[in-house]
Amino acid sequence: MNPSNYLEIKNKIPINVNILAVSKGFKSQEIKTIHNIGQNDFGESKFQEAFEKQSILKDYKQIKWHFIGRIQSNKIRKIVQNFQYIHSVDSFEKLLKVSSISCEEKKNPLVMIQVKFCDDPTKGGFNPELLLLKWKEIKELKNIKLSGLMTINPKGLNSKENLELFKKCRSLADLLQLPDCSMGMSGDWEEAVEAGSTWLRLGSLIFGDRY
Ligand SMILES: *Cc1c(COP(=O)(O)O)cnc(C)c1O
Repeated sequence: MNPSNYLEIKNKIPINVNILAVSKGFKSQEIKTIHNIGQNDFGESKFQEAFEKQSILKDYKQIKWHFIGRIQSNKIRKIVQNFQYIHSVDSFEKLLKVSSISCEEKKNPLVMIQVKFCDDPTKGGFNPELLLLKWKEIKELKNIKLSGLMTINPKGLNSKENLELFKKCRSLADLLQLPDCSMGMSGDWEEAVEAGSTWLRLGSLIFGDRY
């Protein structure tokens, strides 16, 4: 891992776009290295792996943990207890559960709703029409700060196709008056920035190849 990769990308993106350093597959030592040069937001997708690193890094109070993985319903309590941001709430039922458990735990996580803008059997996500139908109910949910939408584009799209899907996400977020769009990864972050991403989720671009 080479810290200059991080600084290079940070210099390339507009200041209003946040970087989420996706540290899944990397060790707490590597998180420390990136944290030491100014990065506070780290994303993890497997809660067991995340908890181990969180407990090693518990004295680093500035680190904010973001959950970005597929959410299993029986893990929601652990996720709510240990993450300030949840990017990957991909169904109405899970959203209800995040809200009710957050109430019980007296937490108030920042939540982004995962939306799917084209068919992709490998990914979860709200259908945009369903999200609109449920929106009134969703807005009333307690103990979650709904800040935006999250999307993951299917693999293998060209630059124009990526841009189009990201623009759909940005338009829907604007329609719902949500400030954030968590979109763009190491392979498609430029299109995401162009479309109006506010959170780039970058793993390999910062940390190198996962092993
Ligand atoms: C792994 C992962 C990323 C980062 O992927 P890279 O291609 O390494 O940048 C972003 N978002 C999610 C949901 C991920 O699981």
